[in-house]
Amino acid sequence: MKVNLCCDCLAINEHGINTCPKCGGDSCWCGSCQRTANLLLEGVRDYKKLGLLSPVTDWNPETGIK
Ligand SMILES: [Zn+2]
Ligand SMILES: [Zn+2]
Repeated sequence: MKVNLCCDCLAINEHGINTCPKCGGDSCWCGSCQRTANLLLEGVRDYKKLGLLSPVTDWNPETGIK
């Protein structure tokens, strides 16, 4: 699934939306962001596997981690 992932709040945005409507951050669809997005959607919460810098405790696709 092709989506944009907000680099700030990790919300999933529709593909092609480059500014996150939730927080105004950069929403990216490079290979690594798409990989992170798909892993999050699959239920992976291990931040090292996700390629993130800090642990993800609570996440949902609408609001990300905020
Ligand atoms: Zn955001
Ligand atoms: Zn990216």
